[in-house]
Amino acid sequence: MTEQNAFVPLLLDWFAAKKRDLPWRNTYDPYAVWVSEIMAQQTQMDRVVSYFNRFMELFPGIAELAAAPEDAVLKAWEGLGYYSRARNLHAAAKRIMAEHGGVFPGSFPTIRALPGIGDYTAGAIASIAFGRDAVAVDANVLRVLARVRDIDVPVKEPAGKARVMEIAQALLPTGRAREYNEALMEFGALVCRPKNPDCPCCPVATACQARHLGIVADRPVLSKAKDIIPLEVATGVLLQAGRLFIQKRLPKGAWANLWEFPGGRIEPGETPQAAVVREFIEETAFTTEVATKLAVIRHGYTTFRVTLHCFLLRLAGGRNDGELPVPALTAAQQSLWVRPEELGGYAFPAGHRKLIDQLADSLWL
Ligand code: SF4
Repeated sequence: MTEQNAFVPLLLDWFAAKKRDLPWRNTYDPYAVWVSEIMAQQTQMDRVVSYFNRFMELFPGIAELAAAPEDAVLKAWEGLGYYSRARNLHAAAKRIMAEHGGVFPGSFPTIRALPGIGDYTAGAIASIAFGRDAVAVDANVLRVLARVRDIDVPVKEPAGKARVMEIAQALLPTGRAREYNEALMEFGALVCRPKNPDCPCCPVATACQARHLGIVADRPVLSKAKDIIPLEVATGVLLQAGRLFIQKRLPKGAWANLWEFPGGRIEPGETPQAAVVREFIEETAFTTEVATKLAVIRHGYTTFRVTLHCFLLRLAGGRNDGELPVPALTAAQQSLWVRPEELGGYAFPAGHRKLIDQLADSLWL
């Protein structure tokens, strides 16, 4: 056996000894594998565990998930971000009920055809839940194989990704895809980490080309970083007769179907205070005035960095008659006047949820 061919046995031995005890590893149930794989995309594993356990309690199977209102699914997802993942899970559960009799399909192409499932997730489910010889190449696997096999092109671009797929496929030990895929991902998360890989204690170091060549720091080759766009946004919490105004976003576009406080981008030359008053008129036809500034919240997304200027608003013209006026909505599908303690029952984007957490300590509520 050459040193290169030694890589997989060394990896599998390490995985057998060191794998973490994660809740979905106690089962090969396709539903549990699917939910865990979708949650783990773009999210740290320690955060995934608590969300996963709660999600499985709320929606223990495909039928329960399919039958749940979308609001309940989004609420269970609140804080994980990338809400299209939750919407696609929900849509796929409905499709499995309608087209597969409620039974998770077992072939790669049928899994791949479900909403929100790409090559990686289809490979993970096909191998882990159904024991099929499919590869599952995520960011961990791209990085590990770029180092072990010294791939000198950016692995997140099509040519580099194709090379990693080819190598992953060639290395796959027949009949052991489940362990192999899980081991590669776990190894990338725990040992061959993006920063500070643990090369001195690495169980596969003898089979690693980048280590032999002394170029670990140069692998994987990175794509050119995308520019992060700064966005200045103003939002307003309108208080009237002890209730707060919230609205549900439209069913398409960013944060579709989540709840929010109205607001929007601050125009060039505009103050945040002026922006929030303007946005309220445009989105609800309410004329408001700023009572006080509540917070400035910063939140990073993949391609944006949002600075959210948050204000407490009241209706202009001294309307303190206890009436809850009806808005003319232009940027939302529904609105509500809710008591502050009811805000926890609705799913909000991360920036607004941070604001709500801060509001809990406010004296005026
Ligand atoms: S030696 Fe270092 S770079 Fe190579 S596989 Fe091990 S941890 Fe990764």
